[in-house]
Amino acid sequence: MTALLLPSIQVAPPGPKARAIIERDRKVTSPSYIKEYPLVVERGEGPWVYDVDGNRFLDFMAGIATASTGHAHPNVVQAIQAAAAKFLHICGTDFYYESFAALCERLAGYLPRMGDKKVFLTNSGTEAIEGAFKLVRAHTRRQYVIAFKGAFHGRTFGAISLNASKVGQRAFFGPLVPGVIHLPYPTAHTPDVVGALENDWFKTHVDPREVAAIFIEPILGEGGYVVPPASALEGLRRLCDAHGILLVFDEVQSGVGRTGSMFAAEHFGVMPDVFCVAKGLGSGMPIGAIVAREKVMTWPRGSHGSTYGGNPVCCAAALATLDVVEPLLRQIGETGEYMRSKLRALQERHPVVADVRGVGLMIGAEFLLPTTGAPAVEYVGALEQLAFQKGLLLLSCGASTIRFAPPLVVGRHEVDVCLRLLEECLVELDGRFGVSPASGYATE
Ligand code: PLP
Repeated sequence: MTALLLPSIQVAPPGPKARAIIERDRKVTSPSYIKEYPLVVERGEGPWVYDVDGNRFLDFMAGIATASTGHAHPNVVQAIQAAAAKFLHICGTDFYYESFAALCERLAGYLPRMGDKKVFLTNSGTEAIEGAFKLVRAHTRRQYVIAFKGAFHGRTFGAISLNASKVGQRAFFGPLVPGVIHLPYPTAHTPDVVGALENDWFKTHVDPREVAAIFIEPILGEGGYVVPPASALEGLRRLCDAHGILLVFDEVQSGVGRTGSMFAAEHFGVMPDVFCVAKGLGSGMPIGAIVAREKVMTWPRGSHGSTYGGNPVCCAAALATLDVVEPLLRQIGETGEYMRSKLRALQERHPVVADVRGVGLMIGAEFLLPTTGAPAVEYVGALEQLAFQKGLLLLSCGASTIRFAPPLVVGRHEVDVCLRLLEECLVELDGRFGVSPASGYATE
């Protein structure tokens, strides 16, 4: 892996080659794409991304927490090439191949306290959620599901019906899937969700015998990188057990080593009945999975399937990814701890950084205007752009949080470079937005 590199900006991005591609792209691509900033990638290596004009960027967003092993990890590339040279497709729903069985075996081996499991392979996170939604209804024969405010589960109909993070993801797509109840995401500050269900919802709105499942991100992703108290997840587990409700963990963003455990469930010690995986699983290749207790994955032959899900090239990428990530878990935890301590030191110097939180390399820094406590939305938008100009790739989430979700192969050097550039940006932006301590911010 390339070590001790620094970002290198040769031409202010977007340079001429990038601008030409952006121009072509804009003419023909859907206006629904977000395009956070004008990064036009030519290649990547480890945590480094090179644009078409020869600039080198340090990647602390990993293509939305997906390039888990870094860009073009040689073991993953080699596995993909070897699989592609054998056969590209035969359809795992209808036929057999070894890598499909091997990946399902591997995924079924995680979270051993869940007991025996069965696995269904998908092409994406949203498909895993969609399938899990069908599974919990089919298994329980119950119609309602519970989800949380701030949640993001994907872009298909079942998933957007569970979402409650940005209204634009749902607007004018209705009617959505009925029967979804949204509660506040559990934090140290929100009221007790279990109490709200037992004492209010289950008495006034919905009989718990009609509730199929609770879908929850064990760490809130797009909604702001929020870590719930373990007690809240334990409470949900107990509630589910009391009423025969299934607990589904969406580990699409938090899974595959991101938290320093293979799955965030281990961090909290709470076992779900079903968990969904994608993103980091294939290092960027399109693969996801629904992993369920054997006694829950009871849907009959033909009830669910997929042409491409568990494609052999993607299975090979996933197996190689798991091989790379498993031995890194301890380092991920330590690097994350190091990064949070450096961010907290930076917070002392920049009061606009209101909170630093996270587990492993799933780290959020929330920005609030010190004078009013309001989300520093424009500040965070400007920070993303300025960091990009300096050669650092960042991505926001929630109202005004920067998420740090680098490739899992980063070490202290990359963290130091990231923090140095971040602080350069904050010094400039604190002045621009008038939020520096020197400008009259009153510390409490
Ligand atoms: N679930 C969570 C927690 C996610 O963060 C995402 C994507 O960001 C999804 C589901 C959807 O995954 P995909 O974009 O692969 O459909």
